[in-house]
Amino acid sequence: MNHWKIPLALIFALTSLSGPALASEEVNLYSARKEALIKPLLDKFSSQTGIKVNLVTGKAKTLLKRLQSEGRNTPADILLTTDAGNLHAAKAAGLLQAVDNKVLASVPQNLRDSDNQWFALSTRSRVIVYSKDRVKASDLSTYEDLTNPKWKKRICIRSSSNIYNQSLLASLIVHNGMSKAEEWAKGVVANMAQPPKGNDRAQVKAVAVGVCDIAIINTYYMGVMQEKDAAQQKAAAQVSVFFPNQESRGAHINISGAGLIKGAKHKENAIKLLEYLVSDDAQKWYAQANHEYPIIAGIPVSKIVNAWGYPFKQDNLNVDELGKHNAEAVKIFDRVGWK
Ligand code: FE
Repeated sequence: MNHWKIPLALIFALTSLSGPALASEEVNLYSARKEALIKPLLDKFSSQTGIKVNLVTGKAKTLLKRLQSEGRNTPADILLTTDAGNLHAAKAAGLLQAVDNKVLASVPQNLRDSDNQWFALSTRSRVIVYSKDRVKASDLSTYEDLTNPKWKKRICIRSSSNIYNQSLLASLIVHNGMSKAEEWAKGVVANMAQPPKGNDRAQVKAVAVGVCDIAIINTYYMGVMQEKDAAQQKAAAQVSVFFPNQESRGAHINISGAGLIKGAKHKENAIKLLEYLVSDDAQKWYAQANHEYPIIAGIPVSKIVNAWGYPFKQDNLNVDELGKHNAEAVKIFDRVGWK
């Protein structure tokens, strides 16, 4: 038999989902979060409910493509991913279905889809980190001010192909309009210390070794670095976190989140898992382990996160706007030559 003709979905199902499909109570989760960031929580859920969670991890874009190619044959019940832009894209591709559920309705309205096809599980801010030696907090103010010539050759930020930057620019499009957003992107490019390279953590390291004086990163990366190996701790110790736009709309917020897959074969179990992920218990764990912000009021943040300043003023823009304006953001980045 020509093995190329085995349906892709079957290969995925056979090779990726751990364990036999014999257990009557199970749920299949596609997760763009690394296993370590989610597995302990899933184990807790399983021990409480007896529902086995079959976890497939992969990159956000890879999982989206995979869901599209698997179509109705997908074994996935839930997609868990980061960035509202990715969740928006999943919905736009027709991969998700609405869940009208009381527990999930406790997710703040600006952090979930208007049709309840996806829900935030945590939030993060995209902030400025600055060299403790070469920059004073009083030198900093807003995202808009990053185009100020005083930052010439002093900014490190990753590539525009990354969705975190696309979402940040999308927020500037919503708040300031297309032409101002384009001017902003152009101004930031003019102030870059080097062409974009590396991930968010690489930007912190670049500040630490003096390549640049400020960088733009997601908050939880600082948290991770502050408790990692000695080298990362050392780099992180050179910088401080600054929350921009505290006098105006607040710092840019993005999410990790999840949605129920259209045609999910374990729908009830999937909804139970989604409910669990927004429960106090899970929110507490998520906030501590991942150094993110809980979506449910009153849940404490980690010690490290608290030390940066909490609470802070958060931009309460509906995060779905980030996905809606993603294509415009990508075009602007191209036009201004942000690599
Ligand atoms: Fe990330």
